[in-house]
Amino acid sequence: MNYSLGYRSYARPFRRPLTTAHGVWSVREGIIIELRSSLASRSSSDPDGGDPDARNSDARNPSESGVVVGYGEIAPLPWFGSETQAEALDFCRSCSGTINDVAIDTIPDCFPACQFAFESARTALRLAQLPHFPPPKPPKPLLICHLLPAGQASLTAIDALAQSLKHHRDHTYRHTYKWKIGTASIDHEFNIFQALLEKLPTGSKLRLDANGGLNADQADRWLAACDRINQHLGNNNSTIEFIEQPLPPSQWHDLVRLSQTFTTPIALDESIASLTQLRAAQTSGWRGIYVIKPAIVGSPQRLRSFCREHQLDTVFSSVFETAIGRDAGLQLAQELQTRDRAVGYGLDDWLMP
Ligand SMILES: [Mg+2]
Repeated sequence: MNYSLGYRSYARPFRRPLTTAHGVWSVREGIIIELRSSLASRSSSDPDGGDPDARNSDARNPSESGVVVGYGEIAPLPWFGSETQAEALDFCRSCSGTINDVAIDTIPDCFPACQFAFESARTALRLAQLPHFPPPKPPKPLLICHLLPAGQASLTAIDALAQSLKHHRDHTYRHTYKWKIGTASIDHEFNIFQALLEKLPTGSKLRLDANGGLNADQADRWLAACDRINQHLGNNNSTIEFIEQPLPPSQWHDLVRLSQTFTTPIALDESIASLTQLRAAQTSGWRGIYVIKPAIVGSPQRLRSFCREHQLDTVFSSVFETAIGRDAGLQLAQELQTRDRAVGYGLDDWLMP
């Protein structure tokens, strides 16, 4: 099947720059793509019109003219190994305004963000072609993990977030927060960590994300501190759910050692940014948590079959996409997360509209 392709790039400034062990990030650049096809060409050629995958992303109802549209989002993260914004734009330009199914299914692995966007847009378009669009039953809501700013700013942010979630409809709502570490000296961060723990709402889960920015000694200290907290719960019964990527991907053996030495779980993120790396970690026997960023990991169909085959303990997570990429990512989370973990999509207030 052939589609006509439209695309436009965007740049959204962060309200306040995001500080991680990778550095400071102040503008999110990406590309929205639009696939169009006519209903007539669909009905004559598509074998899987009832595709259950066809529930994600943004789409538009068939218009009177019989043209359907599906949107997708390219949201690159080159410091995680994806293509750059410029490379993704070159790829879109190279299509000269049209693309077909074979070309979508064979986008090279060095364009993982394009694989996600084009497959998501096609899925959205197929959904728009179904007779009962939109789907009658909304999926069950997912728990959301809210990202706190790094450093001292986390202490005011936690107050505001906890207050805004205080009157959540569901009184059993479980607060889950993520805090970036490895952005300042460890002793300074330990002091803030203590204050942060005291401010967490009762029964919260806290995730620490080092973005690979610790050394082995610092990772030991953080994990020992987390184990102590999890063994002797304080007044508010909060726990450390996991530490994300304490060491850089190059230190695989130390990551495995940490996962075997401490009881606080370790989640891989930078280590498994692509499907190839994800497969390699699973084959090497990683039995901890896998943080999956669907917008940059690569082909959703291949991700789907891999996760279903191996029943991984996953946490699906955002790369600061717009609603188009976010909805496609959340659809995959709905389908593929095997445990009741909050998804890493609590980023609403980080970017300008
Ligand atoms: Mg991370």
